[in-house]
Parts: sequence; structure tokens; C-alpha cells
Amino acid sequence: MALPSGPAAGCAPVQTPWPRRLTRQVTVGGVPLGGGAPVSVQAMTKTDTRDVAATAAQAQALAEAGAEIVRIAVPDEEAAAAFGRVRRLVAVPLVADIHFDYRLAIEAARQGADKLRLNPGNIGDDERLGQVVAAARERGIPLRAGVNAGSLEPDLRQAHGGPTPAALAESAVRTVARLERLGADDIVVSIKAADVPTTVAATRALVERSDRPLHLGITEAGFGEEAVIASTAGLAILLAEGIGDTLRVSLTDDPCREVEVGLRVLRALELRRGPRLISCPACGRCRVALRPIAEQVLAGMATLRTPLRVAVMGCEVNGPGEAREADVGLAAGKGKAVLFARGRKLRTVPIEEAAEALLAEARRMDEGEATEPHPRPLS
Ligand code: SF4
Repeated sequence: MALPSGPAAGCAPVQTPWPRRLTRQVTVGGVPLGGGAPVSVQAMTKTDTRDVAATAAQAQALAEAGAEIVRIAVPDEEAAAAFGRVRRLVAVPLVADIHFDYRLAIEAARQGADKLRLNPGNIGDDERLGQVVAAARERGIPLRAGVNAGSLEPDLRQAHGGPTPAALAESAVRTVARLERLGADDIVVSIKAADVPTTVAATRALVERSDRPLHLGITEAGFGEEAVIASTAGLAILLAEGIGDTLRVSLTDDPCREVEVGLRVLRALELRRGPRLISCPACGRCRVALRPIAEQVLAGMATLRTPLRVAVMGCEVNGPGEAREADVGLAAGKGKAVLFARGRKLRTVPIEEAAEALLAEARRMDEGEATEPHPRPLS
């Protein structure tokens, strides 16, 4: 379980702005987790699993939105059978989420689950948990051991005076050791608390003691912008420390929104390649309505396939500098905008045509770059 110490020893040899901690690698339906693999984005369906058509449609929608792994709740036998039917309808790797009943975990493995997510503390004694471990081993699928503040073991709660970061980390270490003792090889770990400081501190404490791949998330983050910000804050702190191999953003919202937020966090940290809009906040120097231009450009960027940086700047004072730094950019002035590409000034266009002209340049560059590797080698 011990992680090699020293700043270089614990970091994976992949080129990202944040050196990654090296964890053991497992594979979930062909998607690698850990060992320096790109941080993957997960989502969870919110349909009634027994409704096969609705669950398959949502899993497919999540995959199309960018989820690399989709988790499905398996609360009863009917859901376990439905899981297998969903499995046959979609290609994205599927994780079965099990609580309490070890037989459901075994059945989900039999039905083609690519990973089992469980809280070993509520699965039962070693005999039962051992049967789940054996089923996972037989099919070569990993287990995710989830530790939640809400289900912390009573003895740890008492010893630590509550679900403290140290108590949660201890619970995770204990859980992994139990799974190892029962013969599990491929184990992913997660620690979740409803608040950012506890999740961050507990996860930091855990990585000092474990090299198992980590699933990140702020559970029960809540609703709307507040939840997005809480999730982003927690994830960004850990990812910037090189911690985390896969993530799920939990929102009381459309699950595709969870995927979108997860991907955006990874892109903002440059852990994921993709086109990026840079737009200025438009101060008192701006003489145009910049937001509609930025919105039009952002919408048009959805079809770009390469990680272009596209800048929309609001004035001719500071705008040209930023626009030149981007791959393509514009600096807006009163009634007109100057276009730039790769540091060179291209031409001046009427402001009403600026967004479309910028997008046309971006598409031209995208076409050229899609056929050859981009010079920025990110994960
Ligand atoms: Fe203000 Fe110009 Fe900077 Fe935009 S680019 S924030 S308009 S100074």
C-alpha cells in the first residue's frame, strides 16, 4: 500500500501541467484508470434501472455527452436483470452500484458489469464479501470501494470523534486491506464527504497511505451554481496536486450536466484536450456588446475537434495582445473587430460579422490540424 516518497517518485511520466501521482492501473471495460492514464469522466443514470429503454437511452446520452464510464444503480433483482439488458444495448463501460445485498453484486458481474461499486461495510461479513471478490476476479473486473462520511464505521467515528478526514482515510485503508485479504486485485477507492475541506483533507491523507487508483467527487454537492462551484473547487484542488484518476460531478440536475462540468474542469486544468474560449470580462474600455459575440463563438466551437484556443477580446487596447497569444482571436473596437491567427493580424471586419469570421478561421485551422498531431502534448 505504501506510495514511494519524493516528488518525482510518485508522479506519472505523462505530460500535463500538474505532475500526476502514480497509482496502480485497473481497466474498466477498456478504459484505463490510474497508472498515468488520462483522468476519465463518469456519470450516473437517474432513471429507474428497471426501465431498460429509458436507462439505455440515458446511458447512451451520457456517453455522447462525453462520459467514458456510466454507473447504474442496482437496487434489486429486477434491476440486476435489467442491467444485463442495458449492457447489451450500449457500448460505454457500465458500473453496477450495489448496496447491502452481496447477491446483487454477483448477479451484476454475471450480467456483464465492467466494475462493481460497493461500500464493503454494508455488504456483510467476509464470507459474503469474499463471494463478491471471487465473482469480480473471475470476470476480471475491478471493485470500487466507496467510503462515505455518512456510513463511517462506528468504532472509527467514536475514536476520531466523528467523520474527520483522518477517520475517513483510515476507513478507506481498512476497507482496501480487507478486500486485499479476501483476494481482490483491482481496487479503486473513493472517499466522499458533502463538504470540500473534509473531502480534500481525507483524500490527501489517503494518498499518503495508498497507491490504489482514486475516484474523486464531492457527494451531495447540491443544486445549481453553488453545487457546480463546490464540485469544481474540490476537484481542482486535488487534481492540481496530481491526485485523482477518474471523477464524477454529483449534481441534483440532468446527468449530462454532470458530464459537462467534469469535462470543463479537466479542460480548465489542461488535463484534457479540447477547444477553449478565452474571453475578456469587458471593462469600461469595451464599446461593443461582447457577450453575444462570445456566446455565438462558443456555440460554433462545439464542432471543433482540435484543442484550439479562441480569444474574444473587448477592446483595441489590451485585446490584440491576448488575441495574438491565442490560436485565433479577435479584438473588438467600435463597429469593427480585428482578426488574428497564430500571432498575425489578418484583417478588420464589421462587428456584425466578427463572430462568424472568427469561427471560419477557427474551422480552417481545425481542418488543417485534425489531420496532424497538435503541438501541445497533453493527456
Ligand atoms: Fe477591458 Fe479591453 Fe481588457 Fe476587455 S480586453 S477587459 S475591454 S481592457
